[in-house]
Amino acid sequence: MQLNETTQEYEIGGVSVLELTHQFGTPLFVYDSATIVSQYQKMTSALSGVPRLKINYACKALTNLTILQLLHSLGAGLDAVSYQEIRLGLKAGFEPNDIIYTPNSVSIEELEAAVALGVKVNIDNIETLEYMGVHHPKTPICIRVNPHIMAGGNANISVGHIDSKFGISIHQMPLVKRLVETLHINIEGVHMHTGSDILDVDVFSHAATLLFDVAKQFDNLQYIDFGSGFKVQYKPDDIETDMEQFGEMMTTRFNDFCEETGQELTLMFEPGKYLVSESGHFLARTNLIKQTTSTVFAGLDTGFNHLIRPMFYGSHHTIKNVSNPAGKPKIYTVVGYICETDTFGWNRRINQIKEGDILCFLNAGAYCFSMASNYNSRYRPAEVLVHQGKAHLIREREVFEDLVRNQPLPSLNFGQN
Ligand SMILES: *Cc1c(COP(=O)(O)O)cnc(C)c1O
Repeated sequence: MQLNETTQEYEIGGVSVLELTHQFGTPLFVYDSATIVSQYQKMTSALSGVPRLKINYACKALTNLTILQLLHSLGAGLDAVSYQEIRLGLKAGFEPNDIIYTPNSVSIEELEAAVALGVKVNIDNIETLEYMGVHHPKTPICIRVNPHIMAGGNANISVGHIDSKFGISIHQMPLVKRLVETLHINIEGVHMHTGSDILDVDVFSHAATLLFDVAKQFDNLQYIDFGSGFKVQYKPDDIETDMEQFGEMMTTRFNDFCEETGQELTLMFEPGKYLVSESGHFLARTNLIKQTTSTVFAGLDTGFNHLIRPMFYGSHHTIKNVSNPAGKPKIYTVVGYICETDTFGWNRRINQIKEGDILCFLNAGAYCFSMASNYNSRYRPAEVLVHQGKAHLIREREVFEDLVRNQPLPSLNFGQN
């Protein structure tokens, strides 16, 4: 979001934010296609020295079909964690072979359905590996390795440590090898994903060393998938993953590995947040300004039903008053309308807010709409994509019919007996 110096209005991709709220109402998610394109290109250019590179968008971050189509048009593949995400990907135009399915704790029925669609399968436990070897000996498999390193911004989003439920322990590789040899399983890839918000490029480097060691144990490997964990900026003084430094380190190490082992492998990543977080803006209207003995509350026409990250894992979203770009900053506690503690931010310096003002949450592209619910029987917001200076509605705001459509009303006799 930028302030247009001439009009003194905030804009997203050249479109006035206030106009977007007039046209589409609030609360509203707005994505800027140019940011997604530039994040994707930052990654591919940092890794341009790798002969075979594939970026699979981890679509659980934001699954809107138009966003999927955009990433497809850029040449991305897809990382899906559910059968439904696979189907969304296929609908958006991805080929099955461009989709890698990374399930955890799913039923055999779901696994079978995914295999039937012909997608790449990333296996995350020994039992499932054995099942695949017995029932689908021809299907190439990727194995998800748990390297047991503590990486990532907080315990909820760090998934590679010793207590994590994800992946096959790196210490179980002898067992994996035995199964692979006995059942003639075709291991085409090895994968790890250690968590989100990894600050330090050295953590990736350490993980790479471990995964290369695993990779050496398989003869028919096609790719090595380093998952994600790239950090984005939430506040002006935050550090984000230094993509150039990361790219240099990975390029050298990956190319060396291929040369050393005489293999022509594909290097894969599966970023979610890095590609879409900054493209997203969440716009809400101020319904209430309430001075209490301890703070000034700004109450919005939304809540954690639409943006759960602050309440769920303490995420910071910068909040700006779009309606008062030149106003004097004051301290506010910004809250939602849900009938439970529902705080978006404590003690935030925001340009003076009055009732009716539009506030904008930044970094609202990843894990925002995709985690939204109908709690309190509210409608989920509309989504808009700004592309080449024009706003396009890419998801309609829900209506009452959406809340009741799946509720048959059997004629039961609830009268007094
Ligand atoms: C969630 C997830 C990702 C994406 O993580 P980000 O932090 O959004 O980049 C990648 N791979 C797997 C397997 C995931 O579960």
